[in-house]
Amino acid sequence: MKINQFPKDIRPYLLPKPTGRMVYRCLRCDEEFDITRLLYTCPKCGSVLLLNNKDKQVIDEAGGEKWRRIFDYRKMLNHKATKGIFRYYEFIAPIIPPDLIIYLGEGHTPLVQANDRLREQVGLDFYFKNDGLNPSASFKDRGMACALSYINYLAKKESLGNILAICASTGDTSASAALYASYMGDFIKSAVLLPQGKVTPQQLSQPLGSGAKVLEMPGVFDDCMKVVESLTENYNVALLNSKNSWRILGQESFSFEIAQDFDYQVGDKAIVVPIGNAGNITAVMSGFLKFYKSGVIEQLPKIVGVQSEHADPVYRYYLEETAEKRNFVPVTVRPSVAQAAMIGNPVSMPRVIELAKEYDRTARERKIFVVQVNEQEIMDSMIVANRNGNIAGTQGGESVAGLKKALGSGFIDSSEVGVLDSTAHILKFSVFQDMYFNNNFGPEFDVTPRSNLINKPVQIHPKGVSPPPSSGEPLSEEEMGRFIRKMTTEIAEILNLEAR
Ligand SMILES: *Cc1c(COP(=O)(O)O)cnc(C)c1O
Ligand SMILES: [Zn+2]
Repeated sequence: MKINQFPKDIRPYLLPKPTGRMVYRCLRCDEEFDITRLLYTCPKCGSVLLLNNKDKQVIDEAGGEKWRRIFDYRKMLNHKATKGIFRYYEFIAPIIPPDLIIYLGEGHTPLVQANDRLREQVGLDFYFKNDGLNPSASFKDRGMACALSYINYLAKKESLGNILAICASTGDTSASAALYASYMGDFIKSAVLLPQGKVTPQQLSQPLGSGAKVLEMPGVFDDCMKVVESLTENYNVALLNSKNSWRILGQESFSFEIAQDFDYQVGDKAIVVPIGNAGNITAVMSGFLKFYKSGVIEQLPKIVGVQSEHADPVYRYYLEETAEKRNFVPVTVRPSVAQAAMIGNPVSMPRVIELAKEYDRTARERKIFVVQVNEQEIMDSMIVANRNGNIAGTQGGESVAGLKKALGSGFIDSSEVGVLDSTAHILKFSVFQDMYFNNNFGPEFDVTPRSNLINKPVQIHPKGVSPPPSSGEPLSEEEMGRFIRKMTTEIAEILNLEAR
């Protein structure tokens, strides 16, 4: 729709304009720092940062009701800057000039209601939000679109060339970082650091295909993260892990979209998110809080974080009921099918602790929960979900298992509605599906396939047919006729077909 076709009171807001005043804020010492450079940790105390908009005049003046209408009308607007996550520009990073926004098709992923059969099995109504349908097939693209738009802005403003963007990854961060950097041109190159053998072949092929420098090292993600942190402390590189708070801002769009998709009624919803480095759950909490404080939504949804028992430091932290007695202890991870979340020392833990407190305080009741699931539950749930029309990877399976656990633990009840983060596409994690179907999980995984869920191709070798067709040697008409007849009867037998 063209600008002059929109209602008069909406027109001035349709195209985003730079506003606000953003600062980094340290979560430990509360110090603020300006955003003229990329900071990852507090220069004073070393803790992690979050970005704050100190001047919300534009947001406050319009008010919640108007913003709801603006976002709904922006759905009909054909404008590059507002096509993706920056439909919510004013709530994300309104200091980035709209013409410098990088858009590769991220965000606005489908919200798909589970079919009757699956809802019945799980015990309540729920939806998948299919973030595997982002450009690099995971939710990481939301954060990367924001972080790289900011870097693009910084590079143009300061005339920077030769930026090296770097990240450690369990697979999906590197795929996303490499994709966005490859789009941006010569002034930026990307390098990714991966734990050898701990990302799937599909995830490894992604940054290779985008032309990134791919470095594999021994150890698990937590080890890669330490090396990348040392690199950023000692060299001039741009860190793209979720320690980079611009990524958190972009990932808040997940919450904004859920709010908009339910016509801003989310009080009866329970958002279920797998936790790895804890950047995503940080963003999900922060996003809903922002919409709530500005009146865009009038109730906060529940949020359920899920961890595998093979990588569960956040779950363990919240096992202690009394907030004052809680003490964060990193864990040593064990092999997990939810490999993208196999992290023992989440970088965003201080953010989770602060935001979870603020969330519950704002809601005046407990709304944040963390549950633990086992590897068997993750795999079974993923396979069952995908046998019901979904496209969830192992972490999406973890979300389903987590929803069941939250229901069973009484954290949510069957009158509520689950909204599950399907964080990545199954095709990235098909090796785990193969291991399930071929029953060749190593003992360290603790997974035994359920025979009724195994599926394998059937090889058909019709008896007495010679020769079979092969390329370059066409069968005679008679041989071909015989071959087709044999095949047809054999397949009909396998499929139990009735003759007509
Ligand atoms: C990164 C990732 C996660 C974990 O998200 P965090 O922000 O690290 O907690 C979960 N699932 C998939 C598919 C991921 O790529
Ligand atoms: Zn500090």
